[in-house]
Amino acid sequence: MSPSLSPLRILIVAPNWIGDALLAQPLLSRLHQRLPGVAIDVLAPAWTAPVIKRMPEVAEVLSTDFRHGDLRLKERWKLGRALRLRGYSQAYVLPNSFKAALIPFFADIRLRVGFVGESRYGLLNVVHKLDEKKLPLMAGRYAQLAEAPGDAVVLPLAPAHLTVDEGHLLITVSRLGLDRSKPVTAFCPGAEYGPAKRWPARHFAELARRLAARGSSVWLIGSDKDRAVGEEIATLSEGAAINLCGRTDLAAAIDLLSAAQLVVSNDSGLMHVAAALGRPLVALYGSSSAEHTPPLVQEGSPARLLHVDGLECRPCFQRECPLGHFKCMNDLAPERVLDEITEITATTPQ
Ligand code: SF4
Repeated sequence: MSPSLSPLRILIVAPNWIGDALLAQPLLSRLHQRLPGVAIDVLAPAWTAPVIKRMPEVAEVLSTDFRHGDLRLKERWKLGRALRLRGYSQAYVLPNSFKAALIPFFADIRLRVGFVGESRYGLLNVVHKLDEKKLPLMAGRYAQLAEAPGDAVVLPLAPAHLTVDEGHLLITVSRLGLDRSKPVTAFCPGAEYGPAKRWPARHFAELARRLAARGSSVWLIGSDKDRAVGEEIATLSEGAAINLCGRTDLAAAIDLLSAAQLVVSNDSGLMHVAAALGRPLVALYGSSSAEHTPPLVQEGSPARLLHVDGLECRPCFQRECPLGHFKCMNDLAPERVLDEITEITATTPQ
């Protein structure tokens, strides 16, 4: 860990989810506006680090192996002491947990900014109180931390934006033997949160068959945890979809998504990644809602956020359907998604 070189270096303690990390990007952008020349380092769980490394606002990512619920006080104290050497003048703590605020406190960072969260008076010394009505969007809540407590968030929020490693993309395409001569539609069939956010495999497979009949290649992109569902979709699609789930790391998945003409995704981290890459997007919502955490779509990039209308039980925000019928996703028909894709592709330059 090298000592600080920049006259003003600040530390962000990042959220634990990929999607939330992207919703925090407008905060980073605003901090650059407010503090010209600032170097922003981000302390982040290892599983989100590849996404944060692609944010142009970030100088360095310090990746950690603390899992959800881990206290590991001694390790946090040691890391905080090590971070003292880097001379941070401010820290922004995005998770609301008590333990997330410990490292900046142990690092003796002069200004420690965050929401009260779990009664973090003392650990933080620039404390914001959340007004949920005024700030319904998660991205707005994070951006609030760039302002003085009580001051309004500066709107509009900057969109999320990730850089692409073109060389790495070419290597990945060649390693996986992918054909880019046809337009590519990428499907992201996973959702770490749980099955109630996953569109059924048979629907993805039906959509893949219809898109392949129109001359599109269909790539299934996801982590090793999505490998089995990817296999199921590939089989049901009778070869129309290629299962790449688990065959790339997250950095390669970002690059592959950047090569897609269109992305169809569950409400997941990769949905936010696709938006941050400026890809035309059809997002499928089951038990969750786009109300608080919509993707930060770039200007000129079409995005359709779909859900079943008139279903009283939704959104229930459960990981698995408590009613068993799973109508929120079962009733979201492939034909409807195809219609949206048809409209988007008719208005988007290829
Ligand atoms: S209860 Fe309703 S919203 Fe929740 S998972 Fe089941 S069908 Fe979906």
